[in-house]
Amino acid sequence: QLKITSSELKWEKERNETEEKVDINKDNINHNVEEFLLGSEEDEAMVPSQQFCLKAHIPNTQKYMDMYKRSIEEPSEFWSEIASSEFYWKKEWDHNQAFNENLDITKGNINIEWFKGGITNICYNCIDRNIEAGLGDKIAMYWEGNEPGVQASLTYTNLLHQVSQVGNYLRDIGVKKGDTIVIYLPMIMELPIAMLACARIGAIHSVVFAGFSSESLAQRIIDCKPKVLMTCNAAKRGSKTIFLKHIVDAALIQSANHAHSIDSCLVYENKSTLKRENTPWKEGRDVWWQDVIPKYSKSTCNVEWVDAEDPLFLLYTSGSAGKPKGVLHTTGGYMVYVGTTFKYVFDFKPSDIYWSTADCGWGAGHGYVTYGPLLNAATIVIHEGVANYPNSGRCWEIVDKYKVSVFFTAPTLIRSLMRDGDQHVRRYSRTSLRVLGSAGEPINPTAWRWFYKVVGDSRCPISDTWWQTETGAAMITPIPGAWPLKPGSATFPFFGVKAVIVDEEGKEIEGEGNGYLCIKGSWPGALRTLYGDHERYETTYFKQFPGYYFTGDGCIRDKDGYFWITGRVDDVLNVSGHRIGTAEVESALVSHSHCAEAAVIGIDHEVKGQSIHAFVTLVEGVPQSEELRESLKQTIRTQIGAFAAPDKIHWANELPKTRSGKILRRVLRKIASKQLDEIGDTSTLADPTVLDQLIAQIDS
Ligand code: ATP
Ligand code: MG
Repeated sequence: QLKITSSELKWEKERNETEEKVDINKDNINHNVEEFLLGSEEDEAMVPSQQFCLKAHIPNTQKYMDMYKRSIEEPSEFWSEIASSEFYWKKEWDHNQAFNENLDITKGNINIEWFKGGITNICYNCIDRNIEAGLGDKIAMYWEGNEPGVQASLTYTNLLHQVSQVGNYLRDIGVKKGDTIVIYLPMIMELPIAMLACARIGAIHSVVFAGFSSESLAQRIIDCKPKVLMTCNAAKRGSKTIFLKHIVDAALIQSANHAHSIDSCLVYENKSTLKRENTPWKEGRDVWWQDVIPKYSKSTCNVEWVDAEDPLFLLYTSGSAGKPKGVLHTTGGYMVYVGTTFKYVFDFKPSDIYWSTADCGWGAGHGYVTYGPLLNAATIVIHEGVANYPNSGRCWEIVDKYKVSVFFTAPTLIRSLMRDGDQHVRRYSRTSLRVLGSAGEPINPTAWRWFYKVVGDSRCPISDTWWQTETGAAMITPIPGAWPLKPGSATFPFFGVKAVIVDEEGKEIEGEGNGYLCIKGSWPGALRTLYGDHERYETTYFKQFPGYYFTGDGCIRDKDGYFWITGRVDDVLNVSGHRIGTAEVESALVSHSHCAEAAVIGIDHEVKGQSIHAFVTLVEGVPQSEELRESLKQTIRTQIGAFAAPDKIHWANELPKTRSGKILRRVLRKIASKQLDEIGDTSTLADPTVLDQLIAQIDS
């Protein structure tokens, strides 16, 4: 049951009376929560301007509440109406029964199906349908190379041609509906083109981030047994060159040793990085993209019409908690859910220019680089490189160059740009920006405010979207215009999402509270299984709390009904009987002006249960000192309470992160407790050398 009630509605009235901002009534907010969400410095909620709301898809809270209520009470009708009116289907499903589900493991196998019997194709919906609507000449993609000044673009018609050629080639070499293809490409336009080509012919793509090592790539190949691999010779990311084909060859040797060999490897020639003659090559298996693809017809590539429940892709999770899981999404539900969330979460308008810094190797790169935007006929910007290369201003240079109006990124980048200083942002105008977005980790309120004030000039709402690879797209998320935002809160559930907080026993907590975030009932974008391991799927997500999808994340609901993700429950700190999320303590540390980034963990302690250790990265140029350690602890004492003050603060030049930029706390836990032989799976670690510095620091 939705909990936004009187205080949200009160805002509607106030919005008409006040201008840009209203104070949250302090007495209305639970004490602990208040400090967590607002920090000590400011007590504001960010209210979208009236001007913004007037043009927004969801201009007020009442409109959201009406739609939300209907989505929960009549899910089949709600989703059938959207699916039928906003997407193309060759044949529709039974509108009175849009879904079948069993989420209760005590009653049988877990099963989720949406729009079963409906026949469609997501590539057709992303491209052909837009061309038929007269948008063939609209730019689908602007591509910005790693080096400034290197660029390209494709209209929707060009995109169709390129996708068709790749689709025709794949068919010609024998790829059939249901075959798996691994895509290991950098952020060049051929990456979304490859994804769309697979979808067009009914093949299942599995994109592996092109920064993963040969072991990690091999691990995924062995798991999903692809027929074809698409890659390129080498790629530039910032100042580094990554020799992808060398990595691929090593991975293919490993996978062959595990009884899976690949007969076809399509290699894009990235001319600026590595010469053909220097690229390792296996005759008979390897083919240059540029040699074969242009030979195929661009004018026709018949669409493979598939059932809504036919698989679309599988994608491995980031691996923050351990070995990555091969998440499988099917076609119809995923299409409807990403397309619809994209429209509302970013308040997307046809005139928008949309840029997400996510790589197609992650969930965000599937839903919010490729599929969500193209389903909405958007113009997207794709950037090959890293967003702060060659300097901290690159992001805003790109924003100004393409007149980006919707900008979506991750907290890790926001924190790093914040650390580099406002001057790099202010050099650029950024007046085109309208909506900002963040996902992937809890965004610390301090980073949120910086993003809001400095990047968005206090003008652009921030959509802090909570979701997972497994959920397909945003689940708890602001809808710009619909309600005031609180820095650090993902706010409210999206349409059709019954987000609940349960206690240890699995009992739902009504109203204010702190517990485990679960989803009751399915939603169209839910994962259907873990590839080849339905049992692991059931155990991971449905066993802990029978009847619910368990997210693995902790969550607080405040007095106003806002949701606050407190971090992963595996990382929860338990000190002298106080259970506290990592996000809360880390956000307090980041609010200290000398702290750029922080990670906290708990290690076993005889008396207290756990002892808190913090790893802190300081702002450039700030010297380490005992006084500073004390001052950081004091910040936590003031903002949260003495019990949460860390016993140890370790200095970290850098924190260990996954390749998608998430802090790997499980690794820090092992380092702090000196159990180095138990560090576990580090294949998802972006930079293994970070560990040596941290280990040395602990020993000193
Ligand atoms: P694995 O499941 O293999 O450990 P992962 O959970 O890091 O990997 P993803 O699916 O990429 O893989 O990340 C989803 C997780 O990211 C969520 O469960 C949550 O912990 C975190 N997260 C994502 N968005 C937000 C957000 N807006 N606020 C807070 N946390 C977020
Ligand atoms: Mg996860």
